[in-house]
Amino acid sequence: MSSSHRRVVVPRGALRPGMSRLVLPPEAAHYATVVLRLGTDAPVILIDGSGLVATGHLELGDAEVAAHLDAVTERDEGESPLALELWSAIPKGDRWEWILQKATELGATVIQPLHTARGDVRIPPERLPSRLPRWQRVADEAARQCRRARAPEVFPPRTLAELAHHAAAPDAIGFAAHSTPAAPVLPLALALARQPAPPRAILAVGPEGGFTDAEAAWFATANFALVSLGPRILRVETAAVLGVGLIQHAWGDLG
Ligand code: SAH
Repeated sequence: MSSSHRRVVVPRGALRPGMSRLVLPPEAAHYATVVLRLGTDAPVILIDGSGLVATGHLELGDAEVAAHLDAVTERDEGESPLALELWSAIPKGDRWEWILQKATELGATVIQPLHTARGDVRIPPERLPSRLPRWQRVADEAARQCRRARAPEVFPPRTLAELAHHAAAPDAIGFAAHSTPAAPVLPLALALARQPAPPRAILAVGPEGGFTDAEAAWFATANFALVSLGPRILRVETAAVLGVGLIQHAWGDLG
C-alpha cells in the first residue's frame, strides 16, 4: 500500500467486504477535502475502526464526495498479541477523552468506563446515547492517527458489581491500581515480571478520591491483584497511561 494513500476514518460499520463505492458521510468528506485538501482521484485508505480497511480513490461530485474502492480487507495492523482492557473511573473535563486517545495509542483493546463510589463523573442514562458514540469516535480517530486498523471498543459505564461476571473470566489477569492501601501492595512492574503473559489483562484505575475499602475488597474477591504505581499519587489519567504502558511493555508489543 503506497504511503501516498491518506487515511480517512469513516463511521463504524460503514465498510463491508466486497463493497466498491462509498459515499463519505459529511465529517469524513470534510476531513478528506478540507483538512487533507484531497481532490478527485486522490488515493485514500478508509478505516472504520472495526478492523476493516479499504483502499481506493476519491471522486468529488457536486453534491457528494465518494470513494471508489479497489479492495476492502480485514487487517490487524497495529494490534498487540495481548488483549488489554482498561477499566477506568471517568475524570472531569477533557481528561477522559485524553485517556481514550492515549489508551488507544498504547494498544488497549477495550475501554470500560467505571462508575465508582467516589467517582468524579457519572453519566446519567439519558446522556449515554450522545456520549458513547462521541467517546467511540475519539478512539476511532486516535486509531487512525496511530495507524491501528482496529480501535478499542468503548463500553457504557458500569459499576464493579455490574462487571462481576466479566471479571471472573479464567484467561484474564486483573490488576487494580490502589493508591491508599491499608497494607503494602506489590508494584505493578514486579507483579508483571513474576508471571508469563496471559492472553488477556485488565487494569482498573480509580477516581481522584481513590477506590474505597469496599471496592478494594471487591477486587480481591474478583481475583484482581491490588498493585502500586510508585510512591507518588498520580492523577487518574497518568495512572491509566502508565499502567497500560507497563502492561503492554511486559506482556504485549512494546518490547
Ligand atoms: N485520593 C487518592 C488518590 C487517587 S489517584 C489518594 O489520596 O490516595 C486516582 C487513581 O489513580 C487511584 O484510584 C489509583 O487507581 C491510581 N493511582 C494513582 N496513584 C497511584 C499509585 N501511586 N499507586 C497505585 N495507584 C495509583
